[in-house]
Amino acid sequence: MLNKHPLRQDEGRQACHRALDRYHQEAGYRWLGRATSMLVLAGQAMLLHASLQRPTGWAMGVVCVPLALFLADLVNGLVHLWMDHNSRYGGWTGPLVAAFHLHHARLRYEEKPLWRVYVHESGFKLWLPPVILIFLLMDKWFTLPAPLLRVVALSAILSSVAELSHFLCHNRDGRLLRKLGRMGLLLDKARHLRHHREDNVSYAFLNGWSDPLIDRLASWGFKGYKQGTDRHVEGWTPPR
Ligand SMILES: [Zn+2]
Ligand SMILES: [Zn+2]
Repeated sequence: MLNKHPLRQDEGRQACHRALDRYHQEAGYRWLGRATSMLVLAGQAMLLHASLQRPTGWAMGVVCVPLALFLADLVNGLVHLWMDHNSRYGGWTGPLVAAFHLHHARLRYEEKPLWRVYVHESGFKLWLPPVILIFLLMDKWFTLPAPLLRVVALSAILSSVAELSHFLCHNRDGRLLRKLGRMGLLLDKARHLRHHREDNVSYAFLNGWSDPLIDRLASWGFKGYKQGTDRHVEGWTPPR
């Protein structure tokens, strides 16, 4: 498909490359990532602690698990959809946006222990600490219903587990992982591969339960990334 806006596309690429250089050269982004992952981990622990103080009952406790699995898959998938279409490379957030687009540029990620993937990838979730804080404050002021607090606590943790699920999908293989993927407990490789090979599909990356919903939303209101932000990353190499 020919690009109808070569100049605009070229400007987008230049702005994206400048933002990527900034991301790799400015130490502030490394510290921001570390601070964010610490806030995420602390917030997840505080939410889980508050939730475990408030029993939900056995049956409701069981119901909360699939609800949280769906909610985490949906929310993270929607953030992914929005970010894949974000081409605002200016300001302090621009380098973070540009760095996000690198996940389409490769099919294998740097190998590291799974606990480090959990901690490191949590550092990209700038949206999560404010969300956790809002729910902690709402619980302090209004005492949230126990099932709601449980779903929120599990969803916050599963948001980081989604990054693990995505990493496993790209970097690991095995009968158990394939089985968990087919069961819909982790991300299925074939389902997720569509996100990288095709355009504007399969944004969910915890288990893919919310993909039908997000795919419909994407086809209604979003243009896709293959001719957009994917082109902006093309040709960039990390500065030495
Ligand atoms: Zn993507
Ligand atoms: Zn992927």
